[in-house]
Amino acid sequence: MTYPASTGESDATSGQDYRYERSAVIDLDAIRHNVRRLAAAASPAKVMAVVKADAYGHGAVPVARAALEAGASWLGVAHISEALALRAAGIDAPLLAWLHTTDSNFGAAVASGVDIGCSGWELDRIVAAAREQERPARIHLKVDTGLGRNGSTMANWDTLVGEAMEYQDQGLLRVVGIFSHLAVADEPERPETDHQLAAFREALAVAEDAGVDPEVRHLANTPATLSRPDTHFDLVRVGLGIYGLSPFDGQSSAELGLQPAMSLRTKVSQCKHVPEGQGVSYGLHYRTEGASTLGLIPVGYADGIPRVATGGPVRVAGKTYPVVGRIAMDQMVIDLGPEAPAAGLLGAEAELFGSGADGGPTADDWARAAGTINYEIVTRISPRVPRRFVHEENTIARPVAAAAGGKAVL
Ligand SMILES: *Cc1c(COP(=O)(O)O)cnc(C)c1O
Repeated sequence: MTYPASTGESDATSGQDYRYERSAVIDLDAIRHNVRRLAAAASPAKVMAVVKADAYGHGAVPVARAALEAGASWLGVAHISEALALRAAGIDAPLLAWLHTTDSNFGAAVASGVDIGCSGWELDRIVAAAREQERPARIHLKVDTGLGRNGSTMANWDTLVGEAMEYQDQGLLRVVGIFSHLAVADEPERPETDHQLAAFREALAVAEDAGVDPEVRHLANTPATLSRPDTHFDLVRVGLGIYGLSPFDGQSSAELGLQPAMSLRTKVSQCKHVPEGQGVSYGLHYRTEGASTLGLIPVGYADGIPRVATGGPVRVAGKTYPVVGRIAMDQMVIDLGPEAPAAGLLGAEAELFGSGADGGPTADDWARAAGTINYEIVTRISPRVPRRFVHEENTIARPVAAAAGGKAVL
């Protein structure tokens, strides 16, 4: 999670800043705006900002701070290791991790006050960790209402709830939450969300009958937060939306009142005149139709741009060009046409995607070019691309006082 950007390499003599060679610029004001927008949609339910996978590639620690500042009251991650990294950075907000293996460090989670999602087999390990740490674990029981991934089956739910309550009575844990995850909320016309909602209500009733009194019941992801108020319960878990991206096909970020927070930028690294029929990149699958000018863009699949995304847009000097030929490990090419000045664009800024507000290219465009979803485009931008944070100054101060006053911090 430490990117080259944090070292701030710059060359005082030339005035150049190597961080501008290629960077994913993260606008923390956009994150704050999106959290406020989602909080308004969710209200009175509270917001859990999902910052797994390094905040979908945006940088978990700065994003988590900005989200908390803008009104998120919980954080969510997949792995306990991701949660521990946030605690190590001094972030003391309620924090849930839900995806475990038999090697997960439940002891460290309990010691750090990290809430643990529990689908079944984890329960005994969590209890063993609580005994070892001499501290009750905080767990959220997860029920599979139809997604078919983790979560207890409905058939096993009764038993899981019963066992958890026995341990709660022994003071070894507290059932803080009950949750489930939706499968098709991004397609609001599909009926399965109704089926999952009914199953979730049934699971809640079983838990209540067993004496569970959860602080938070949570089901909704970003699309359900925006389209299904009946799924909000006490807390919504929003990932994609806080990054300003739309979960819906055919509905843009702007239409949802969201601002994409990541812009991927680099500089044109070569520009040259070529004759008609010039082959471009491995395989020579593109040839110039006439004499033309090629612009070399120094990012490739090692930077996380999908290799299949030929045709994806790159904006240079106010004009957007499709990538031609194969995307390689480190570079890709755009055909600037016969009129472009050969040397004139050397060093010009090249934007692969950004806010889209000014008609520029978007992560959605790259998702279409790659045959994937916008989630994947931003999340896979690799650590070779420095993250550059802007509008960091408003970010909430490190909650040092809170950390000292309560939970253990690693
Ligand atoms: C990733 C994830 C989310 C967030 O989903 P978005 O569609 O990005 O809002 C919520 N809940 C769980 C369990 C997840 O794994």
